[in-house]
Amino acid sequence: MLTEKPKAAQEHPSAGVHGATTPTEGNVAYFEGGYVPLADAKISVLTHSFMYGTAVFEGIRAYWNQEQGVLYGLKLREHMERIRRNAAMLFMNDLPAVDELVHIVVETVRRNGFREDAYVRPCVYKSGQSIGVRLHKLPHDFLVVALPFGNYIDTDSGVRVMTSTWRRNADDALPARGKIVGGYVNMAFQKTEAELNGFDEALVLTADGHASEASAANLFVVRDGILLTPPVTDDILEGVTRKAILELAEVLGIPHEIRSIDRSEIYVADEMFLCGTGVQLAPVTELDHRPIAGGAIGPVTKQLHEAYYAAVRGRDSRFAHWLTPIPSR
Ligand code: PMP
Repeated sequence: MLTEKPKAAQEHPSAGVHGATTPTEGNVAYFEGGYVPLADAKISVLTHSFMYGTAVFEGIRAYWNQEQGVLYGLKLREHMERIRRNAAMLFMNDLPAVDELVHIVVETVRRNGFREDAYVRPCVYKSGQSIGVRLHKLPHDFLVVALPFGNYIDTDSGVRVMTSTWRRNADDALPARGKIVGGYVNMAFQKTEAELNGFDEALVLTADGHASEASAANLFVVRDGILLTPPVTDDILEGVTRKAILELAEVLGIPHEIRSIDRSEIYVADEMFLCGTGVQLAPVTELDHRPIAGGAIGPVTKQLHEAYYAAVRGRDSRFAHWLTPIPSR
């Protein structure tokens, strides 16, 4: 079997294709320095980040292990290191140290008392209420929201992808690397175009026509047994999952290379998959109406898929360092 089927206790009942989930009364957020009911975590309509997108965010998953009765936060340090670096890009410094940020994430999730998979959304945002677009001399704050969460897209049977007519926002215009809230309108154009045209996801190209990534996931292809992924200089988000997949490839002895990838190279590639916190590892069976891997799921993708899900649910001790057990409430 390619992947485990979500157990009833693991997948939130309202989790749809976008992992959509409805906040409940019991949800707790970290907001303005304290833990509050999610319903009370509110900002003014004049908030700078609301009007101009001047915020950076993270998406983190926590996986419920039914046998062990443990919720595992995945790669918490890596996400907190990234948000600190990206916040500094927007002149938002003086954040708590990484250890303290990880503690706040753990504590927020713990207070929610999840016994199912969850999604955590930390955000550093320009919190002042002022008109005037700029980055400097503005106050900022840190918040964390945590919700139950299922699959973002179908990770079992393979997804259908189209090449977007929207290019990825270039590093010299709006760095994708920064995971900047305003930048996600670019990703929204791509995702919506793909879905309205009957596809699941978008393949996004750089301004010079190289394959960059998907709307909200990094890209891997397999050619002649070699796993390939674009370099960080091809306008990608430097994905935590991308790095994890490269680590898995190293441990499993799968040859891998980081280099630019052409669009038509994917048409003739043996396998393709997308990866990211939300997407997890989604095999691609079709790009622009051309079947990939004969419309099935190729052997390298299958091997990595199984290894990834075992690792994130705490079923492979070789990757225990990826996980932070979150105490129950
Ligand atoms: N690219 C983009 C544009 C994304 O939004 C995401 C999701 N955060 C990814 C790649 C995957 O990154 P990660 O593995 O860190 O979630």
